[in-house]
Parts: sequence; structure tokens; C-alpha cells
Amino acid sequence: MTLAFDGLPLEIDTRPAVLDQFTVDETGRPGSRPRGVVYPADHDQVLAVVRWARDSKTPLIARGAGTSLEGHLLARGDEVILDLSQANSILDISPTDFTATVQPGVTRTRLNTAAAEFGLQFTVDPGADASLGGMAATNASGTTTVRYGGMRANVLALQAVFADGTAARLGRAVRKSSSGYDLKDLLIGSAGTLGIITELTVRLHPIPEWIHSLRISFPTVAETVDAAVEILGMSLPVSRLELVDAPSMAAINAFRGTSYPESPALFIDTESSSAAAVTADEQEIQRIALTHGAVDIATARSFGERHALWEDRHNLYFAVKSCNPGRRFLITDTAVPFSQIATTVDTTARLGDEFGLHVTIAGHIGDGNVHTIVPYTESETQAAAQFSDRVVRHALGVGGTATGEHGIGLAKKKYLRAEHGPAVDLMTAIKRTLDPNGLLNPDKILDA
Ligand SMILES: Cc1cc2nc3c(=O)[nH]c(=O)nc-3n(C[C@H](O)[C@H](O)[C@H](O)COP(=O)(O)OP(=O)(O)OC[C@H]3O[C@@H](n4cnc5c(N)ncnc54)[C@H](O)[C@@H]3O)c2cc1C
Repeated sequence: MTLAFDGLPLEIDTRPAVLDQFTVDETGRPGSRPRGVVYPADHDQVLAVVRWARDSKTPLIARGAGTSLEGHLLARGDEVILDLSQANSILDISPTDFTATVQPGVTRTRLNTAAAEFGLQFTVDPGADASLGGMAATNASGTTTVRYGGMRANVLALQAVFADGTAARLGRAVRKSSSGYDLKDLLIGSAGTLGIITELTVRLHPIPEWIHSLRISFPTVAETVDAAVEILGMSLPVSRLELVDAPSMAAINAFRGTSYPESPALFIDTESSSAAAVTADEQEIQRIALTHGAVDIATARSFGERHALWEDRHNLYFAVKSCNPGRRFLITDTAVPFSQIATTVDTTARLGDEFGLHVTIAGHIGDGNVHTIVPYTESETQAAAQFSDRVVRHALGVGGTATGEHGIGLAKKKYLRAEHGPAVDLMTAIKRTLDPNGLLNPDKILDA
């Protein structure tokens, strides 16, 4: 079916076999078949589609790489998917401004490949090869956030199309600004419910000359967490600080054929501009680890060694999947204050036992972000849901958040008021102002 928008002919694909691919996402939750899918390639085409949607009152779901984990992309059935994967040009890389300007469908690994030619990197790393638009829309973060921040810290400016068919540039390509209300940051994390991002200017960072990596095993989670907090407290220049529990290490061993100690561990990167400084920092990290009872310390200094060390951590999700064939997987994503990390990990493990589930716990501990991966069978569906609910309520009870980085989507909507109280009414008012007819990703974050 071909529709003409303001003279711009754009194909809407309505073939059932194609639409069926949009009925599931990474969560495995079932969604309904959307009405169609459209592939705009630039800002003007997005504008044209949104104006058509406004006039025909057709809801739209923006889509990047489709890796989100909270039902963000699932349709009710009346929506058209606005797939931005074709809007994928890198428009500019400025080595003097340390910025890149991209279309929203550019993936982070593509940007990194291009930036590396200038000795620069885009640091936000959610593990999956997500799109920059999707990462901004979920305020993604990841292993390097402890040093470089998540998307809010790294998106300087963006261009967006709103539900009324207008467009605006939000933010400026500068490191700081105190000018007006920060609408750029309002769009970041809004999951396609307030506007469609059609262009982003992001920060790039120099690739450090020297990086040393460590994998350090400890007898208990409490000692692992204490060591991590002391490393942070010493202001050591760590760019990654990840916690992996004993069952996770067992899964890694089974998947990778390794024989690492099956006890809690920290995966760490420390970086500097000189060999002497990075070595001194590495030694200080080892000293701190030993005072907290470290039982095994592996170091990786060459690119190849470091890559292999981080492959283990990055493959954790796939390791757990391969150890649990035929199961479905639930992932929790709470973030808590540092003082509550050890109790949170303990409580999570205890809840796993209580519900008879084999949970693995890992997290971006440098950000207080604790993930669990829960494999479950059909008959354990309810137990997994109850476990997840108790984990989230524990986090909220100790002053944390239901989601450190994955977002509210559909799955975590029920916790919004418990976390934000009357501020949810303010969020509703903002949504009504920007999208009065509820056309942009309806039912996500807030009820339609
Ligand atoms: C193995 C694995 C590991 C992961 N680890 C992490 C992690 O460490 N940290 C983390 O943050 N996430 C993680 N994720 C989740 C996921 O990668 C992130 O949520 C990512 O930011 C989603 O980007 P995407 O391009 O896939 O977006 P999509 O899934 O396509 O969309 C996500 C949301 O953004 C909206 N959206 C997409 N593009 C636009 C646009 N141009 N304008 C407006 N709205 C838009 C969509 O409507 C949707 O609501 C992980 C996922 C997997 C599968």
C-alpha cells in the first residue's frame, strides 16, 4: 500500500508475515500485530509520517534496533511502526569539538568504528548493538557509565518531531548551558511517548592510551561490594566496575569452557594517559582487593587479553541462556544507593531461593545498578513475576528505582506512582500537553 504524504511517497508495509515480526520483543511477551510498518529515511520523511498520523489519528511506535527489554515496542494493534533503521547516516564527526551528529538509526558500534579513525569513542555501552535514537529514548547506560555517564550526559542536542506535526531543535552542541527549561533531557528517557528523535549530537571521548583490566574474585558478595565502594571512594579512574555473582561465574565457566573461581567477582577497567599511572592505579586496586579478602586476581593489559576478559562479562546473558535451554528469561534492573547494594544482592538471592528460581545476579555496581537474570519455565511464570515484584519493591523500599537503565515501558508501569508519588500527575500533564490525542507510543510509561 502506498500513501502520499505532502508529495513524499512512502511505502507502508502491511504484509502479515512482516507485521508478525513486530509482535514480540526481547522480553518474549506477546504483542498484537500492528497495522503497518513504515521506514522513513530522514527528518522530512518522519515529519510527513507524523503529520499523516496526526490527521488520520493513527498511533505510532518509533523503533530503533528493537533491543529494549520492558515491552516498549509491543503494539495494541492499531499502531503503525515507525522503523528508523533506514535513517542511519553519520552526518558529521568533529574531532575538534569532540562531537558526532547522527541520524537516529545509527548503531553505537557503527559510530564507534567511525569515531575510532579520529582516536575517539562513543562511550555509552548497553551491551546490545542498539541505535542512538533508541538509546536516547531509553536513557541507556552500561558498563562505562561509572566514568562517562549515560545518554543524558552524552547527548548534547537533538532534533525532534512532535505529535502536532511540528519540529524543534533541543539543546546546543556545547558542554554546558543554563538556557531555559531543559527540554532535551525531557525527551531523553521518554521512550517515544513525547516526540520522535530525528537527529542527535553526542559527545565523543578520546580513546585512552593505557587501559588495564582486572577480574578479582572474593569469598562473599559483601566483601566484593565493600572493595568496589572503596575503589570508588579512592577516586581511582575506573571506567568499568562490574559485579558478577557466583552462579554467574558458574554460567560463564560452562559457556566459555573456563575454570575461574565460582565465587563473586569484580570486572574492572582502569585507564590513564601514562603507563606508570595506569600501573600504579592497578596496584592500588589490587591492594584494596586484598584487604577485602580477594582470593584470585587476573590482570589483562594487552588489547587481546582485555578483550578476552570482557568477552566473559559481555556474554553473561548468552551464557545463562545456553545453560537454561527451553526457558524464558526475565531481567530485573533496579538501582539502589551504594549503602544498600550488599543487602539488595543478598535479598535478591534469598528471594530467588524462596521462589525456587535459579537466579544469576550481575550489575553495574559502580552505578548501584543490580540486574538479575531469571530463567523460568511455563509453570514458573507466576513465581518469576512475583520474584521480580518483590525485588522492585525492595529497591523502592531502600530508596532506589524500579529501573536504572531499561526504562518503564509496559512492564514496570505499575511501580511509577510508588516511586514518584504525585509527580506522576505532572508527567501526565506533560504527556497531555505534547500529545493530547495519545498518538505517540500509547500505553507506554503512562496508561493511555
Ligand atoms: C543482551 C542485552 C543487554 C542489554 N544491556 C543493557 C544495558 O547494559 N544498559 C541499557 O541501558 N540497556 C540494555 N539493554 C536494553 C537495550 O539495549 C536498550 O534499552 C537500548 O537503549 C534500546 O535501543 P534500541 O535502539 O534497541 O531501541 P528500541 O528497542 O527499538 O526502542 C526502545 C524505545 O525507544 C523508542 N525509540 C526508538 N527510537 C526512537 C526515536 N528515534 N525517537 C523516539 N523514540 C524512539 C521506542 O519507541 C521504544 O520506546 C540490553 C538489551 C539486551 C538485549
